Amino acid sequence: MIKTENLVIGYDNKVVLKNININITEGEYVCIVGQNGSGKSTLLKTMLGLNKPIDGKITIDDKVSIGYVPQRLQIQQDFPATVFEIVLSGCLKKMKWFPFYTKKEKILASKYLKMLQISSLKNKSFSELSGGQQQRVLIARALCATNKVLFLDEPFTALDTTTVLKLYSVLRKINNEEKVTIVLITHDIEDIIRYVTRVIQIDETIVFDGSKEDYIASPFINEIKGGAE
Ligand code: ADP
Repeated sequence: MIKTENLVIGYDNKVVLKNININITEGEYVCIVGQNGSGKSTLLKTMLGLNKPIDGKITIDDKVSIGYVPQRLQIQQDFPATVFEIVLSGCLKKMKWFPFYTKKEKILASKYLKMLQISSLKNKSFSELSGGQQQRVLIARALCATNKVLFLDEPFTALDTTTVLKLYSVLRKINNEEKVTIVLITHDIEDIIRYVTRVIQIDETIVFDGSKEDYIASPFINEIKGGAE
């Protein structure tokens, strides 16, 4: 679905990661780990097309649009809109001209509200919600923007462990039942490891890319656990 070949990424003339060859296939649940500042966000943003690669190639299958959930602390918390409006706005980029939503889009938004168990919050203002509820809204919104791939950048930072575990299991359900491919950045490898299918660890380049089972058996997992912020 998404393939990078000899990708070099960074800013201006500063190389952050090089020699990146990743092939993300349908149905995977991929977790990207690495020390703070190693380039995880830059990698995601480059694959999303928000950052220009310095060199190399990114190929995304036709008809694949990526739903994106940005870092939690980068989100404007007092956004003046209702939950339903925010979720629906995920459909916007599929529309050509006028800002009216079709019945089909409203049905889709309602479906994702239900899946994220936030239907009862539909008419509430986003700013009234708890951190965990806000993240559910943003995941539902990102699902409206795609039916195939979700990218999440440290989505659950500063939420309590119970909330984080609930959200991880919601994501696993979306991955299993809706067949949505998930690529998620985290520094919280210990909790997420049981949900994912594959781990990619970066440190100037890709130092590990393999199954969850191989990662658990490798020395890399201890390196990340030991260095976690
Ligand atoms: P991570 O997500 O792993 O914490 P980032 O991708 O945010 O790492 O950052 C990787 C490196 O790129 C860091 O050295 C950071 O300072 C630098 N960087 C991040 N954003 C920018 C930017 N907009 N302009 C220049 N350098 C940046």
